[in-house]
Amino acid sequence: MKRGINTRCLHIEQDEKENNSFNNFGAISYPIYQTATYAHQGIGKSTGYDYSRLQNPTRNQLEKVVANLEEGIDAFALSSGMAAITLMMEIFKPGDHLIVEADLYGGSIRLFDNVSKKNGIDFTYLDCSSEDIESHIKENTKAIYIETPTNPMMNISDIEEISKVAKKHNCILIVDNTFLTPYFQNPLTLGADIVIHSGTKFLGGHNDTLAGFIVTNNEEIQEKLRFLIKTTGSGLAPFDCWLIQRGIKTLGVRMERAQQNAIEIAEFLKKQDKVTDVFYPGLPEHKGHNIIKKQARGYGAMLTFNIDSEQHAYEILENVKMIKFAESLGGVETLITYPTTQTHADVPEEKRLANGITPRTLRVSVGIEDARDLIAELEHVFAKLS
Ligand SMILES: *Cc1c(COP(=O)(O)O)cnc(C)c1O
Repeated sequence: MKRGINTRCLHIEQDEKENNSFNNFGAISYPIYQTATYAHQGIGKSTGYDYSRLQNPTRNQLEKVVANLEEGIDAFALSSGMAAITLMMEIFKPGDHLIVEADLYGGSIRLFDNVSKKNGIDFTYLDCSSEDIESHIKENTKAIYIETPTNPMMNISDIEEISKVAKKHNCILIVDNTFLTPYFQNPLTLGADIVIHSGTKFLGGHNDTLAGFIVTNNEEIQEKLRFLIKTTGSGLAPFDCWLIQRGIKTLGVRMERAQQNAIEIAEFLKKQDKVTDVFYPGLPEHKGHNIIKKQARGYGAMLTFNIDSEQHAYEILENVKMIKFAESLGGVETLITYPTTQTHADVPEEKRLANGITPRTLRVSVGIEDARDLIAELEHVFAKLS
């Protein structure tokens, strides 16, 4: 019987089978191997570790856990989510074309438009939750890159349907699974070839460490990425690997609690006169509700809403106290973000507006505080609006 996901956040079954559990003096917390290099007993006698840019035991341990959670054959731990996406883009070459979700994380759009394009890679941005992807595939299209839910508008795309289109045209499907995490969604089991994570967010979970992951179930991609990580050198440092692994131990309890709070906040926001729209895929009226229900085990803890005026958006951001006005997401503390000037500031205005990101749009990453305290703070902030 396959072990449950909460167990797999804590234990590596393979290590028990191989009787590795008593290595490292039986330490329950996997040690931090803070070393740059490794001694050899003689020519050709490596311990399997030669230099920490190539391999580090703490990083390998974390990569095993993440590969297992995402049902992949291998995972790569990088120094940030953007480092992961940057490394992943190295599998493409000049002349390649990618179809990408239009409502992506702003940093990914910045990378594609400013770095990947310069390297000769071409992009078509589509609303992958509603537009016909197949009609935009060209002879040189090599991949489809999506997020679901999208950031920040919470659109839901059908991973299985898009993977069928990708396979038919010999493309790979890449899914940034940062918002739902492997606790709620496993894109590889739905036909994706690569999963991306900003480990900074829910996997780390404590707003204290940057990290990123690439996970794959494709041996050819795995081999390319092993070569690239050792060549480019953006692997995650041992101490940060340890912090992320510690975060993952509580992934399940954090996701459940944060999701419960998100549902309560979404219901609260719906009742506010000054709130014009609430985008949370857990709401039955959300346009992607049935798709997310089919492909995921939960709705996550991210939500976006529109307030009635730009002035009111500013007032909310200035008046929150316990909830912090900050970038980032996925930590135990609740954060509120203004995509227009923060996460999506570098996305051209017309593109932002086309995606529905207006100056009245606010994004909330719901944490694990007591829901009644979060709602009390929001009630207070709404009552003070001019
Ligand atoms: C934050 C984020 C990234 C980038 O990750 P960093 O760890 O900040 O580099 C990529 N994708 C999504 C969906 C994100 O939220």
